[in-house]
Amino acid sequence: MPYSMLKGFLERGELKNFQRMEKEGACAQGMIAPGPDATTPPAHAALLCGCGHQGHGIYSFDEPVIETGIIHPWKKRHGFDANRLKAEPLWVSFLKAGKKATLLHFPLSTPIDVFTSKAKFGADFSDRLTVIESFSQRLTPEIVRKNVDSEGTFSLKLSDSSKIPLPLTAPKSAEPAVFKNKQGGLWRMRFAPDQAGEPDLYFLSPFSRVLSNRQDLADQYLDEVGPFAASAAAYSYNKDKLGNRIYRSGSGKAEQRLAQSLDLLGQHFYSAIEFVLEKVKPEVGFYYFNGIDLCLHLWMAYLDPSSPAYSKKIFDSLWPVVKKMFEWTDRILGLLMERSGPEDLLVVVSDHGMAPIEAIFYPNQVLADAGYLVWDYKKKEPDLTQSRAVYQGSNSGYIVLNLKSRGGIAADEDADELAAKVASAFEPQRGTVLDKIELTAEHPEIPPLGEIHLVPKYKITLQEEVEGKVLEKNFYAGQHHYWAESEAMKAVLCFKGPGVPAGCRLGVRNHLEVAKTIALLAGIKPPEKAGFGPIKF
Ligand SMILES: [Zn+2]
Repeated sequence: MPYSMLKGFLERGELKNFQRMEKEGACAQGMIAPGPDATTPPAHAALLCGCGHQGHGIYSFDEPVIETGIIHPWKKRHGFDANRLKAEPLWVSFLKAGKKATLLHFPLSTPIDVFTSKAKFGADFSDRLTVIESFSQRLTPEIVRKNVDSEGTFSLKLSDSSKIPLPLTAPKSAEPAVFKNKQGGLWRMRFAPDQAGEPDLYFLSPFSRVLSNRQDLADQYLDEVGPFAASAAAYSYNKDKLGNRIYRSGSGKAEQRLAQSLDLLGQHFYSAIEFVLEKVKPEVGFYYFNGIDLCLHLWMAYLDPSSPAYSKKIFDSLWPVVKKMFEWTDRILGLLMERSGPEDLLVVVSDHGMAPIEAIFYPNQVLADAGYLVWDYKKKEPDLTQSRAVYQGSNSGYIVLNLKSRGGIAADEDADELAAKVASAFEPQRGTVLDKIELTAEHPEIPPLGEIHLVPKYKITLQEEVEGKVLEKNFYAGQHHYWAESEAMKAVLCFKGPGVPAGCRLGVRNHLEVAKTIALLAGIKPPEKAGFGPIKF
């Protein structure tokens, strides 16, 4: 959630629970995520551990595997994996202090055994830790198909190779399909047609399991809250499967259909938090909601009147949907306020803001043009038997040399010289497309996940494909990899409770200060590596 957008709502007198938070608590005028990568996993690690990436060990969504100091750009590891945390997160500090803590669909909370039987943080906290998590438990993609009116069923194949039967006809309103033997399920929805005579659309949310270290609770969750609903139909929307998008000459129907699925998502997270408050009654709860993030990834560049993508017609179609997700966030905040007392501490943080995107830069095209890379058009990936340097798409700006020690073709003894030459191939882009072209060996503050680190100019994103162009203009979206200090990327931070003066303004803060501040307000020992803060009220 960008602070600038929240501020707009508050100035218009909207979002009554955030209004109350601002009046009765202390709020920052924006919060900056530590760079160079402001994606969800490293941003959460910084918030919860109170230290930078070298301390907590999480750098991005997907990173190349590093084995005995060697980077393998084509083997990936996942940023949400708790095994990789090198620093104690705040919930461990609460568990160590003897508190009962619950993590609900919270980043870096799985595999659960990291905090229980593996005792990575010094003890098995099974007796007081409850984890419920589903983001990592998806067994099918989301599906949109034409509705068929029939009594029959079809079978849906899950990624564990099993199949489940589902009715051919979509229900009139959203309906859960729960499979207890699979510990999960999905939601079925129907979208009304765009034009008369067209069939209805049938949307199936991804099949997800409910993972928990308390099996009874997972079963109860499925009965009372229903299957996990977190992605809405955003992927399908982006592929025009809900109808043409409004900015691709759509009628606005695709946005209405997406809004219907986003409403289910908002309701699901609200019910899930209510379930934890009533059934688990934790002393400390960590809750996560991704509704605003989903919308802004799609539309950030269309919402600003000064953007070349802006038109009133487009804005009028998108804004009600964005507003609805802010309202769901506000409702969830209202629920937490209503269920907490004056002795409770309530903290609202967003892990990042959202920058508008207006163009795509293709680093692998530059490498191909300069003769360092051969693209396999069939597999849509670099041909590693012929490439000496590659940009790995999910890897936030790193160019990695395909050295022999990594199973590649470039001689290790020439690595420095090759890195300098490859970096110089990007020089023509400096100032117009790229802000920075840095050799990581010369910059210890940049995580060493490749030899060269590229930072694009504001509003330009990077993509892996080679399609015959270096830059694609007029591509509009939202993204939060870079530019942590830009206005749009500033995040939200608010506190309310004992020790927090009402109506206090905290200036611009940093993610790194949050963990220690919460720990001290709660009267517990801060996370071991929390080296920043506390914020003074
Ligand atoms: Zn995001």
